[in-house]
Amino acid sequence: MDRNDPAPYTDLRRWLRHLARTNRLTVIKPGVPLRFTLAAIAKRLEGESASYFPGPEGHSMPVIAGVLGARSWAAEALGVAESELLSRFQQALEKPLPLNETSPDQAPCQEVVHQDIDLRRLLPIPTHHEHDAGDYITAGLLIARDPVSGKQNLSIHRLQITAPDRMGILILPRHLNAFFGNAEASNVPLPISIVIGVDPLILLASQAMAPLGQDELEIAGALHGRALDVVRSRASDILVPASAEIVIEGEILPEVREMEGPFGEFPRYYGPGGMRQVVKVNAVTTRHNPIYHTIVAAGWENLLLGGIAREASILSHLQNVLPAVQDVHLTPGGQCRYHLCIKVRKSEEGEPKNVIMAAFGSHYDIKQVIVVDEDVDIHDPRSIEWAVATRFQADQDLIVVSGGHGSKLDPSSSTKGVSAKLGIDATIPLDNNGEYSVMRIPGEDELDLDHWRCQTAEHWAEEAFGES
Ligand code: MN
Repeated sequence: MDRNDPAPYTDLRRWLRHLARTNRLTVIKPGVPLRFTLAAIAKRLEGESASYFPGPEGHSMPVIAGVLGARSWAAEALGVAESELLSRFQQALEKPLPLNETSPDQAPCQEVVHQDIDLRRLLPIPTHHEHDAGDYITAGLLIARDPVSGKQNLSIHRLQITAPDRMGILILPRHLNAFFGNAEASNVPLPISIVIGVDPLILLASQAMAPLGQDELEIAGALHGRALDVVRSRASDILVPASAEIVIEGEILPEVREMEGPFGEFPRYYGPGGMRQVVKVNAVTTRHNPIYHTIVAAGWENLLLGGIAREASILSHLQNVLPAVQDVHLTPGGQCRYHLCIKVRKSEEGEPKNVIMAAFGSHYDIKQVIVVDEDVDIHDPRSIEWAVATRFQADQDLIVVSGGHGSKLDPSSSTKGVSAKLGIDATIPLDNNGEYSVMRIPGEDELDLDHWRCQTAEHWAEEAFGES
């Protein structure tokens, strides 16, 4: 497919149909307990197939989990080859598309307006991990508008149900936090809409490292290859994706903090509980027969969503100053956040160390950077380790920085998130004497094995090794 063609699956249902047709959607028996069992099933199947729960415990509303099971699925959703994934995302970051506002009667997400708000009765909200403080909405895309600039922002936040119309929310010091700060300074609530059940590209766009004031929905439009259809929320002027399954409208209350957490997070540890902001829910609208989406923390879906979006942003950032940089990967073992592998086309001695230093500054989560040459497969942990094993000397090629800003969710960092940074230059020295000539077998790459394979092997083996 041409990279400029519109993406093929522009709502959750189109994507799920595609997964089902390609044998990547497992339908689970009705009655699955929302507490733990649903997450256990989703976790067991993730990467291989999405899990569809048509009737979980006490609910007629189905739950979907694992809609993004592998990196290749994200490329598929975009309609590009996996090798084009980051460059396509980079294009969308550079050229977002303005939104297309549609009328409410054109918007599936407002087909049904629910009158009395009881989140637990309306929605099948699971509890995922042993020590989670309760049931959490984990795939809620929160859209807010800055009371000062009027700009929208899209971000995912963990939302703990604390009452029929009330949720605790964790807001990290990023864009939503700035909007809320502006509202709270005037002692007014911040209107928000929380969207559940969208296609993988809107989910990916929500994780873009876009500048403050850039509406991530416009990046979603660029990923779709056409302006995203949106509709005005019923109680505010917030624009939400018209194709969404569920929209929760509400506001974040000023000067109110209540207990939220702990909650199992992406690093596979619990983020601690604390006094956090509170969302008061005012309205819920849905499609007819909506589908509820849940993301199990630390699963592939969780890791890939953040990983791919960050990779594209980090790659652009590095390439702006260091053209030697060819590709980057936030490796799965680093939870697609903490460990970055960078492929360079080195032309100056020392260049990889500059790359390492620039990478430390590209996102505070980055804790380890490994720089490798072009012949290393940065998506293959074995290939990366081979480069470190054979092209790296710790007394010359290692950088350690103490006391940087890191992730508060990394339990080995200090409680204030102060963290050391590790850089490894695993590139070949330019002035080598041929000792890095990687061995190869002439003709191996072009080999047509079928030409040489004996077609009657089974019969032959029976004769050669069989008992007689
Ligand atoms: Mn933002």
